[in-house]
Amino acid sequence: MQALVKTAPGPGLELRDVPEPAMGIDDVRIAVRKTGICGTDLHILGWDPWAAKTIKPPLVVGHEFVGEVLEVGSNVRDLTAGDVVSGEGHVVCGHCRHCRAGRWHLCANTVGLGVNRDGAFAEQVVLPVTNVWHHWPGIDEDVAAIFDPFGNAVHTALSFPVLGEDVLVVGAGPIGLMAAAVARHAGARFVVVSEPNAFRRDLALRMGATHVVDPKAQQLGDVQRDIGMVEGFDVVLEMSGNAAALRDALGNMAHGGGMAILGIPTDEIPIDVSKVVFNQLTLRGIYGREMYETWYQMSVMLQSGLDISPAITHRYSYRDHEAAFAAARSGDSGKVIMDWTK
Ligand code: NAD
Ligand code: ZN
Repeated sequence: MQALVKTAPGPGLELRDVPEPAMGIDDVRIAVRKTGICGTDLHILGWDPWAAKTIKPPLVVGHEFVGEVLEVGSNVRDLTAGDVVSGEGHVVCGHCRHCRAGRWHLCANTVGLGVNRDGAFAEQVVLPVTNVWHHWPGIDEDVAAIFDPFGNAVHTALSFPVLGEDVLVVGAGPIGLMAAAVARHAGARFVVVSEPNAFRRDLALRMGATHVVDPKAQQLGDVQRDIGMVEGFDVVLEMSGNAAALRDALGNMAHGGGMAILGIPTDEIPIDVSKVVFNQLTLRGIYGREMYETWYQMSVMLQSGLDISPAITHRYSYRDHEAAFAAARSGDSGKVIMDWTK
């Protein structure tokens, strides 16, 4: 089968013929139809220090996908050939304290699809049945392809109650864009999105942000005054990984507010802890998605009118992977989809 492979340490990815992945009795073989490019894939392509430390070539990369079940292992009862599915990219150990308690998202032995095991940028992918999410018939395939980052957005956006609250989304990458849409759908009053890139600010407005801010040109305090906010943001969704942006958000929160932090900083970020203490803030780190409550929430919110499709801005055949990765890297894009059927 064709697959995008990191063949050796160093920058680049190669489209190659590789053997089809092996199956176990608890596994599901999936014919990949569409995939999404994630920032992680860009790190692996560019071979930054994180990738050099983490990735053991040869490796098929990619973890955001939708596909069709081809074959199931002999232990698998609840899926059959032809079912349309996506995969949770975190494969948990199943035997640690948290796994045994059903808190799979807290497993410390998580193995990442397309990071620590062969991934989904391929004509086929194999996953344990416990990692497979069965979509309802008729779901938009492009949207189904990005359930993994959509899940990051939902897990973050719903980690504090947002009904009637004023929410600040820091960073309008694909995940921040979807988080803005989710916060609005879940009943926030104001959803303010801070983002230096004008293309992405425009997208944020199309996805349900009530206001957008260019952090290079405007102060958050001024924006709050302009729109009639009195006490600061009740909920902050940190989705930039940017140190100055995180500190700025921390200084513009209401007493008792909550900050959910998804963005991954490259370096340590010093913060003023006395603000956390005196303003009685809660900071919460978010990694991945809750298995499988987040997946359930994604499905039902789409069925009740949430639309995340404007976050998808570019579509390519997998054969044009270089152009697809260039679009994802440009910043003037939302989610970039690669089609593995043509
Ligand atoms: P992205 O890099 O496309 O988006 C980050 C956005 O932040 C960019 O649009 C950038 O312009 C913006 N930004 C930069 N400086 C800013 C500033 N000062 N103020 C406001 N915005 C600023 O990434 P993404 O794919 O949307 O992911 C969002 C973040 O979440 C990234 O840091 C990514 O590494 C991280 N991530 C975390 C998890 C997890 O499980 N914790 C999973 C996926 C991604
Ligand atoms: Zn575990």
